[in-house]
Amino acid sequence: MPKAVGIDLGTTNSVVAVVESAGAEPTVIPSAEGGRLCPSVVAFTKTGERLVGVLARRQATLNPEGTVNSIKRFIGRRYSEVEAERKIVPYKVVPGRNDAATVEIDGKQYTPEQISSIILQKLKADAEAFLGEEVKDAVITVPAYFNDSQRQSTKLAGEIAGFNVLAILNEPTAASLAYGLGKGKNEKILVWDLGGGTFDVTVLEIGDGVFEVKATNGDTHLGGDDWDEMLVNYLADEFQKTNGIDLRKDRQALQRLREAAEKAKIELSSMLQTNINLPFITADQTGPKHLDMVITRHQFEDLTRPLLGRCVEPFKQALKDAKLSEKDLDEVVLVGGSTRMPAVQELVKKLTGKEPNKTVNPDEVVAVGAAIQAAALTGKGGATLPVLVDVTPLSLGVETQGGVMTVMIPRNTPVPTSRTEVYTTAADFQSSVEIHVLQGERPMARDNRSLGRFQLTNIPPAPKGVPQIEVTFDIDANNILRVSARDRATGKETKVTITGSTTLTKADVERMMRDAELHAEEDRRRKEVIEARHNAQSLASQVENLLKEYGDRIPASDKAEVEAAVKRVRELATSEDLDAIRSAHSQLEASYRGVGELIYRMASESQTQAASDEGAAASGGA
Ligand code: ADP
Ligand code: MG
Repeated sequence: MPKAVGIDLGTTNSVVAVVESAGAEPTVIPSAEGGRLCPSVVAFTKTGERLVGVLARRQATLNPEGTVNSIKRFIGRRYSEVEAERKIVPYKVVPGRNDAATVEIDGKQYTPEQISSIILQKLKADAEAFLGEEVKDAVITVPAYFNDSQRQSTKLAGEIAGFNVLAILNEPTAASLAYGLGKGKNEKILVWDLGGGTFDVTVLEIGDGVFEVKATNGDTHLGGDDWDEMLVNYLADEFQKTNGIDLRKDRQALQRLREAAEKAKIELSSMLQTNINLPFITADQTGPKHLDMVITRHQFEDLTRPLLGRCVEPFKQALKDAKLSEKDLDEVVLVGGSTRMPAVQELVKKLTGKEPNKTVNPDEVVAVGAAIQAAALTGKGGATLPVLVDVTPLSLGVETQGGVMTVMIPRNTPVPTSRTEVYTTAADFQSSVEIHVLQGERPMARDNRSLGRFQLTNIPPAPKGVPQIEVTFDIDANNILRVSARDRATGKETKVTITGSTTLTKADVERMMRDAELHAEEDRRRKEVIEARHNAQSLASQVENLLKEYGDRIPASDKAEVEAAVKRVRELATSEDLDAIRSAHSQLEASYRGVGELIYRMASESQTQAASDEGAAASGGA
């Protein structure tokens, strides 16, 4: 049976994990570059190359307009909703079809679904390389507050990457699963998630395998990046004081400073002081300048205390919304790389009065939980796993007379669920009604998010208030909504799957899937070419070395043949022609084979000679 993976598609980093066999511990899958986290960064270079992960992140400063980070801030959202987000990213975001937030690079548009699918495709390839088999099934996580459109777009990104998306799972729920919470007993859990750019606090209640989100709060503009930025500013200020140069004005210097600040921050999580050393950071007429400073943990904590302070209010609000006090909490779970900072852990302990769960790496815990759920859904997890029941994150309803939002399904209703209400017409002889589907908690329709509108037509003429229109909201286990309206008199029915205004048409998705496959094929091919080149070139080097040593002792015609074969391989060092590289390689092998035996004998003779020389030296010394 093929293996199903769990994926944490994060704002800053993404992680993929798997349960390899029933009852086994989940494993975090390393990326091809060797790390356990894959930066959620995609870049399009000037030479037309597409980079993902560390490689994309590494060239970000030199190519800011062509490097896409934090795409999660845009997925499933309208252009008009993301004004604040647009200002903090270096690339261009434009209104795409249906006002969907869309990335534009070099005049070419990419939807957030497409960008996310490129990251997912990389995780898929890494998982396949690690497991040695094709991977199709996946559980992908999203924040608890993601609305329908954001969830659907995430699912679509998975499908474009070639996954069969088993479920879209809430991140805090996944983290709780990783700790095996909620098995049998009722528990109230607080999940504190401080990542690279976002802070989420979620209160969950678990019982009988039902995970209910009681409340969620946070700050979408607070995360580890802000800690880095504060340190950068401090270092730049100090440098300016002594050298009179503002490093923030120099792109290259700023990038080095940012990387050094993050590194120092990470070191200060386990050490009490660290050294920041950036030689040749800049220069003026007096010569090159170096930055060399020592920062203590104490200094760093003092400096960033205001950021820590910003975590308190969302925490209190979440508890208040859940109608709980900190004493009611049974468990506290730490999620996100930034919770490795000792000051954050102390704050959580102080606020909750509890020792938080932190034995699973906080930046991997969500992917681990997703892998456990993926295994459970494919019958691999053993019998003890809870059946997950999710809840609707926001209320769903329709617009009724006077622009009012009438709720059909209140927030926090466990899914799957279905509700039917009967509505009527507002005017005499009205022959059609418009169903305007809304999501949100505000009383007026216009203040909520519009998920879509559709018409039920050909209603037989009747005075207002007489026709009976049945409206049904149906939500499946993935929180995906289908709405239908039926005229009771005629039985005529219209149905729509609410795909959110930003989501793509079926044709778009199919095209993107084809594109993705094409790219995967291209990537595979490129890898093959690189491997073939590498193999041929290293054989050529070996042969050259041997020729240097023994060449004068083999027949001249044989030597000339081998040399010609080596030359041919060398000529193909940068070639893209896989067949040519492979045939040059086998030609070299063939021509070398004839003299190989001879050389081998000579080599082993000189070995024996060397060994007996050594032996003589050793006995002489005794
Ligand atoms: P996200 O959920 O936003 O995708 P992560 O959970 O991977 O991201 O968190 C990334 C953040 O965690 C970065 O700001 C990174 O610098 C920070 N981080 C990682 N390890 C540590 C550490 N040991 N100490 C402090 N911060 C850390
Ligand atoms: Mg995260």
